Amino acid sequence: MARTNSTFSNITVDALTEPQAEVELAELAGILRWHDELYHGQDQPAISDADYDALVRRNNAIEARFPGLVREDSPSRRVGASPASGFRKIKHNVPMLSLGNAFDQQDMRDFADGLRNFMRELNDPAMAIELVAEPKVDGLSLNIRFERGQLVTAATRGNGMEGEEVTENVRTIVDIPSKLLGQDWPTVVEVRGEVYMSDDDFLALNERQSQAGENTFANPRNAAAGSLRQLDATITAKRPLRFFAYAWGEVSEPFALTQWEARQKLQAWGFKLNEPASKFSVTGEDFVELFAYYETIQDKRAKLGFSIDGVVVKVNRLDWQSRLGFVSRSPRWAIAWKFPPEQAMTEVRNISVQVGRTGKITPVANLAPVNVGGVLVSRATLHNQDEIQRKDIREGDTVVIQRAGDVIPQVVSVVMDKRPEASHPYVFPHNCPECGEPLVRNEGEADTFCVNGLNCPAQAMERLMHFVSRDAFDIEGLGIKNIELFFAKGLVHSPVDIFTLEARDGESRPPLREWEGWGEVSARKLFDAIERQRRIPLERFIFALGIPQVGQSTARLLARHYLSLRHWRECMGLAENQASEAYEELVSINGMGQNMAEDLLNFFREPKNLEVLDQLTLPNDGQEPLLTVTDFTPPAAASAIAGKTVVFTGTLETLSRNEAKARAESLGANVAGSVSKKTDYVVVGADAGSKEKKARELGLKILTEQEWLELIGG
Ligand code: AMP
Ligand code: ZN
Repeated sequence: MARTNSTFSNITVDALTEPQAEVELAELAGILRWHDELYHGQDQPAISDADYDALVRRNNAIEARFPGLVREDSPSRRVGASPASGFRKIKHNVPMLSLGNAFDQQDMRDFADGLRNFMRELNDPAMAIELVAEPKVDGLSLNIRFERGQLVTAATRGNGMEGEEVTENVRTIVDIPSKLLGQDWPTVVEVRGEVYMSDDDFLALNERQSQAGENTFANPRNAAAGSLRQLDATITAKRPLRFFAYAWGEVSEPFALTQWEARQKLQAWGFKLNEPASKFSVTGEDFVELFAYYETIQDKRAKLGFSIDGVVVKVNRLDWQSRLGFVSRSPRWAIAWKFPPEQAMTEVRNISVQVGRTGKITPVANLAPVNVGGVLVSRATLHNQDEIQRKDIREGDTVVIQRAGDVIPQVVSVVMDKRPEASHPYVFPHNCPECGEPLVRNEGEADTFCVNGLNCPAQAMERLMHFVSRDAFDIEGLGIKNIELFFAKGLVHSPVDIFTLEARDGESRPPLREWEGWGEVSARKLFDAIERQRRIPLERFIFALGIPQVGQSTARLLARHYLSLRHWRECMGLAENQASEAYEELVSINGMGQNMAEDLLNFFREPKNLEVLDQLTLPNDGQEPLLTVTDFTPPAAASAIAGKTVVFTGTLETLSRNEAKARAESLGANVAGSVSKKTDYVVVGADAGSKEKKARELGLKILTEQEWLELIGG
């Protein structure tokens, strides 16, 4: 499993230098992507929600301090994980994004302040801002496309840019009209909202599932997601799914001026709305109605009949919404005000430890199952040895656990009164539970590791899973289940074995098509899927190797720098010598830290790894190599101001500084705070001072506000 620390994480954000910030953002992008994939893609989280949030917060804090360093693949620009295979993919013409979170009244005041800072005319705190608030339904979001009033396609959010097509499944949901009512709709309109399951239907479904000996669902949200994402739509038809409409995607023409009006239109077209909703205003001083609404909904929560995890507050005027636009992955004009985390008490039956891909040991509390806000919880993460010690969590203890929304449950505290008399402190294991090797914890580090590498079956298997995962080799049909099966049968122990699977089929055991649950077609399909992935781009290949700290973005950095596998390997070999030019070169790559370089070189020091690399990519006994790793090809440049550096100075007439900046960034420009030789455009407003002077001295391109607006198209 990827580490939770990055190279400079012991330095406060304020103290980071720009090069350090750049490296750390690269690391964080990789680390967070990995955890997103585990959590959303495989439902297998590896770190606690608190650790995850801390990483996200640090990432955002660094980005806030160094806006120019925000990466294209920044976690703040991503939503969830990529779509699962098996469904056709649909690209969203208007991305399906996430929402920023608020947790208390102050966060809501800050939200309103943000609006006032962005929009010139709201600067005066006496100016009222009209808002709409709705319950935040806990289901999964859906985009339904209507052309001439007819439902044509439906897709899940997926990674926000691309989702899974679930049209046939959606046709079975009674709350969703297959034809819009009335005449008053745009020729093309994408209706968005939440697919969910009511509490009663959820309980009844679980009852039926358990009677039929099938798996039950942990919560209504999982039940809704599992029911919608069925390859066989007749199964979806039997599940009691419902839908609330609250938003829209692509539209051929505007159909409302306000959020409130849009809701009414959605209703007139035949959709259900999430109620109770409310419309009210706030001023700089007066938040009474907003706060009252939140409390009302919190009181009604248990009686609504469906689960919600907060309220969503949106700016009512749609022209304001479009001006406010987005900050990376969430709109500036809306926010989710979450309810406080739910807690419950239960008993720790025992404590076990898990071994991750990099050998990291994560202790887990196995609990007497308990219902926490509608979710049955039977495990909670204990993070690491110190955490257990600090909270003095023991087997047999009664503990308070908590979960908030989507996140991994954690232990808050021990109920000391209930501690059994015979209890004794938990002793952290000295040996790996999977391979028996002594565990190692380095000075000053919180995490404990099994350093047995590929000789540890747990790590070997985790690496295999990573190797075939979506952002790596992405081999369809080779998910966790089959990897586990092949591993247990001794058929696949190293990545090499995957690519010789077909050649060895039937060699020492019956051929795959004769295995239980397999047949001619499924075996063929798997072999074909493997065959298709024998060519792989360098950056994916590097990522697939699962080198500690080398996430997708670092893999890309390396690919961009070294261009070919051959050259990369050569240079890694030479960089072994710290006095070499190759080493200098490696650590000077923008985004590469010394710590990361060390992990990289460690990987190349391990003979087993080199053997695997050779076997995968070099010719064997005169046979073609198993894989072709293609060289890195740089992407073509996008729009005119994309990639250009812009500096704004002085007071602009039509836009606040924030709004000007946001627009430039949304067009792909980098907005810098100071003028340098590298600046492409300096946009000068009234009373510009030293920056304009410097720009003139440097002979930079200077634009008036008007000229700038023309350049970016109005
Ligand atoms: P999150 O996934 O926590 O970032 O929250 C964003 C998600 O909240 C959206 O993608 C929707 O699926 C969901 N949601 C639920 N109710 C609403 C609502 N009334 N307005 C907007 N989004 C909502
Ligand atoms: Zn081990």
